[in-house]
Amino acid sequence: MLILGLETSCDETGVALYHTGRGLLAHALFSQVDIHVEYGGVVPELASRDHIRKALPLIEQVMAEANCTAGDINAVAYTAGPGLVGALMVGATLARALAWGWGVPSLGVHHMEGHLLAPMLEEDRPDFPFVALLVSGGHTQLVRVDAIGEYRLLGESLDDAAGEAFDKAAKMLGLPYPGGPHIARLAEQGDPSRFDFPRPMVNRPGLDFSFSGLKTYTLNTVNDCRAAGELTEQDKCDIARAFEEAVVGTLVIKCRRALKQEGLKTLVMAGGVSANRNLRASLEMALKKDRARVFYPAPEFCTDNGAMIAYAGAQRLAAGQRDEGGTAVRPRWPMAELPPITQVAG
Ligand code: ATP
Ligand code: MG
Ligand code: FE
Repeated sequence: MLILGLETSCDETGVALYHTGRGLLAHALFSQVDIHVEYGGVVPELASRDHIRKALPLIEQVMAEANCTAGDINAVAYTAGPGLVGALMVGATLARALAWGWGVPSLGVHHMEGHLLAPMLEEDRPDFPFVALLVSGGHTQLVRVDAIGEYRLLGESLDDAAGEAFDKAAKMLGLPYPGGPHIARLAEQGDPSRFDFPRPMVNRPGLDFSFSGLKTYTLNTVNDCRAAGELTEQDKCDIARAFEEAVVGTLVIKCRRALKQEGLKTLVMAGGVSANRNLRASLEMALKKDRARVFYPAPEFCTDNGAMIAYAGAQRLAAGQRDEGGTAVRPRWPMAELPPITQVAG
């Protein structure tokens, strides 16, 4: 079964072709960062308009790369939510129109299920059940996963998502959007012993997170440095390091706590922040002590991409799920509402 996947929930146009027998055949991504950078964040209307411009050429590109024609495609999967309503509607409309024209089924996919299943695109895959840490620009969640579609929320951020906190801290340091990779780069040159940022909510029981206090702490530290003269490059690196250590430290503590609570030894991490090298290394080291393992996607499949949507769609389409009439997009959509499926395809 060959599935065309289309991701347009935010500021990345992602397209991929996934075959349930042969795996990922081709994928392409256009990132709109340069369009939004001067505004310091994503402008929804500009995002929608650019998805319109990029989606079809990218589809043609992956079809050429995979050496396939429309007749080879068995179904079309697209991101139906959560995300920006206009951006989602571009992808949904195009995907449904193509599917209708080609006489094949279409299916709206949950963006966070796409992120969650992205590690399945790797050769070394996790077995169910596992605990998933979803860390992206809009979400920070710990989820117990017993099968595809069997999700139980264990904890989540009560305010900012981890990625959002990275982006806001970056802004305070005068770094461009999205700030996560920039903070990570500066942090590598930072002195970890200069500042000690608080690890929010780790002394309280439970699996929820809070990152807004860390934001205030970062701003105060930036202001202290400014008051002492100017904010030097080394100050920025040291603050980035302290900030990153605090986020990573918090995530590691909560992941271990979640695994212990659920009696599981497998952690799956996905979403843009899971590309962070410090987070990957720290989790690996911590879980080794617990004789547990962590799985994550290749860096290019941590942030938004079409491959994860094609893969998640393939699983559900192979299980017989299809779009019905009615609304094509759901800007807000709790993952726990998804129906379970039992058989993994390919
Ligand atoms: P959601 O998936 O919740 O709807 P999103 O799609 O905007 O949100 P992703 O594309 O998964 O989020 O991830 C983008 C986020 O990941 C941004 O906040 C970005 O700063 C962060 N990020 C990317 N790379 C890194 C990194 N190396 N270290 C830390 N953060 C990173
Ligand atoms: Mg993005
Ligand atoms: Fe995302």
